[in-house]
Amino acid sequence: MSSEPRQSGVSYEETPRIIVLDDEESIRLGCEKVLSREGFEVDVAADGSSGWEMLKEGDYDLALIDLKMPGIDGMNILKLLNENLPDVVAIVITGYASYETAVETVKLGAYDYIPKPFTPDELRNVVRRGLERRFLRLSNRRLREERERFLLDLTEERSRLLTILRAMSDGVIVANRRGELVLSNPAGRGWLRGDPQEGEVPPVIADVVKYEEISQMVERIEEDPDLASCDAELDAEDDRYFHAAATAVRDEGGAYMGVVIVIRDITERREIEKMKSAFVRMVSHELRSPLAAVQGYLDLLVDGDVTEEDSHRMLERCRARVEALQQMINDLLDISRIESGVMHREMRVQDLGEVLEEVVELQRGAATGRDIDVLLETAGCLELTADRRELEEIFTNLVSNAIKYNRDGGRVTVTAARSEDRLRVDVADTGIGMKPEVLDSVFDEFFRVRSSETASVTGTGLGLAIVKRLVDAYGGDIDIRSEYGEGSTFSVELPVQPK
Ligand code: ADP
Repeated sequence: MSSEPRQSGVSYEETPRIIVLDDEESIRLGCEKVLSREGFEVDVAADGSSGWEMLKEGDYDLALIDLKMPGIDGMNILKLLNENLPDVVAIVITGYASYETAVETVKLGAYDYIPKPFTPDELRNVVRRGLERRFLRLSNRRLREERERFLLDLTEERSRLLTILRAMSDGVIVANRRGELVLSNPAGRGWLRGDPQEGEVPPVIADVVKYEEISQMVERIEEDPDLASCDAELDAEDDRYFHAAATAVRDEGGAYMGVVIVIRDITERREIEKMKSAFVRMVSHELRSPLAAVQGYLDLLVDGDVTEEDSHRMLERCRARVEALQQMINDLLDISRIESGVMHREMRVQDLGEVLEEVVELQRGAATGRDIDVLLETAGCLELTADRRELEEIFTNLVSNAIKYNRDGGRVTVTAARSEDRLRVDVADTGIGMKPEVLDSVFDEFFRVRSSETASVTGTGLGLAIVKRLVDAYGGDIDIRSEYGEGSTFSVELPVQPK
């Protein structure tokens, strides 16, 4: 005999379990025989009490219950089932079928009843109908639960998605296949006129979007089934630049579902690009003139039409120009190292007084040659945590400028002192000074004051740019006071313990 129930119309995931509660042995045996042959699992009980115990444990699908039984009678079994196991289909077996009994048993939760005596076929039919009902009830419930779970997942998913969209700084605008606006985040709504979310009917993107470039992108995507995405740059007000990307959304079959537009502020990127190209222009310009000079001298030397004395002089000039170029390249490399942060720094406790002494000593030769006095005045503990090479670079640049842009017989005074958790160094000179209008530019790359007084002074215009970057890297400050024709004072403040 097959273990698969021979049912028509309904297939069961597991073999249905049936229990027969009847004190009449022939009924119990008859039912067991007929229903087992149908492929069901059948148990029997001869009285209500043991039947109820079995029902509680047995995980039955259907119970055939005799109304008149010793122990707990059929009516009470129905009550117990109704209260405790409402999913078990109850079919009443009754010897005296009457309208009243039928009504009462159905009231107590019975699905149907079968009057004695019954034929095997009547039994099979009533059991089949009962099982079908149970199967339908269970599968309906499962479907409902699945649907509820799916809806819950969907709501959670949607609210998670909306939270992410809301938090995004990029603008997001979504249109459906008819080009109607279906979703936008707060950043995206800045690109739309009015508050399109308010209306009941979704507006067409082209009618509400502020920039024509966006509606053109949507149009292109809608019209060209092969176009996966396209982008455009938007020039907004206040010199800001935006990049908009539109991506087509297609279903698994490739059918067009709509378009997602993401708009990103690229102003900062643009600014950096502009600065980069300005810097490259500046560097090329600065390199060109010394190289042109060297080439000019070399041309004359190659032509050979120069005296030995002239050729020596020209070679000397070439050397000076090449040295200056080398200095410029070193300075540029320093700047790029500071900017990129890939400097090898050894942060240790340093005595700034000692560093300044060394810097001044090394520059004294250049000063003495022009009869310039260099004084160093230090007070108190001047210890700070820093990279020694960087300290030397900052103060060598400042002291060397104070000498370079000084007058013969002038003076340079370097004073250093501690104030709270900072060290302050003033480098003051009695030199040519600077006009107020140039003070803002001295820290720019390649900036040099062009005047008769500076014409003979060599330099790259990068020294103060390096100083400024280094001081910034320590979280310090640099400040200039200058009087044209009188002299300048550069003041540097560095924290004792940089962060
Ligand atoms: P460089 O000295 O190589 O030209 P810097 O960046 O060190 O470049 O200085 C930029 C410009 O600032 C100098 O060319 C000069 O015109 C001006 N400058 C710097 N220091 C002084 C100073 N102590 N007195 C007067 N002018 C100065």
